[in-house]
Amino acid sequence: MMGERDFRSVIQNAVGSIEKELEIKVDSKDIQTIHLKEVVQCLRRSYYDRIEPEEIERSGFNDLLSGLLRKLQYGSESKEFVIDDIKLKGQADMMVDDSILLFRSALDELESPYANDILYINACMWIYNKENGVIIYITGDKKETAFSLTRNKKMFEEVVRRVRVLNDLLKEQKTPILEPSTECSECQYYERCFMKKKNTKTSLVKILGIGNKD
Ligand code: SF4
Repeated sequence: MMGERDFRSVIQNAVGSIEKELEIKVDSKDIQTIHLKEVVQCLRRSYYDRIEPEEIERSGFNDLLSGLLRKLQYGSESKEFVIDDIKLKGQADMMVDDSILLFRSALDELESPYANDILYINACMWIYNKENGVIIYITGDKKETAFSLTRNKKMFEEVVRRVRVLNDLLKEQKTPILEPSTECSECQYYERCFMKKKNTKTSLVKILGIGNKD
């Protein structure tokens, strides 16, 4: 009979293979092409992904939604935006009635969209030359929350700046500075940036001396 450990690794392998098939492929040698997904996340993480990659632990099907939609016949083709000698490559999930659509999974209904999703959809509006976009979050129990946005130049300029920074650092082989955020706790490079992960519960027990008889 299959043990819990084997079962878990079978699921992880299956999720990993599907996600690899669906993810946006980055040619790590082509540093003159920067992908939009690289600059809306921590630049240090994107740098490591190209220079010294480490596999990310994949645990569920939550992140597969947008990849699946892009692969379907009504998914949108990727497009490039030229910034001097650099190409910024982006891909919207879908385009309907001249609006960019982005689908993301969420654990709960959200009050406002995530910052990196706003940066992503806003940049897509410039790359595809569209004025409007909608981010749709879908929870595990199929609740949807949609946020409409119109394009914003200042925000896109910030993305362009980040494209140039990542391109320069890749050229110079210099590691970007830390960008501490909630993304860090899920990041596969956490231990490179900070410290070895520890079981906080155990540490706290030790720190407080709970259970010490003397
Ligand atoms: S741990 Fe945080 S700062 Fe370090 S690469 Fe990951 S996201 Fe960036």
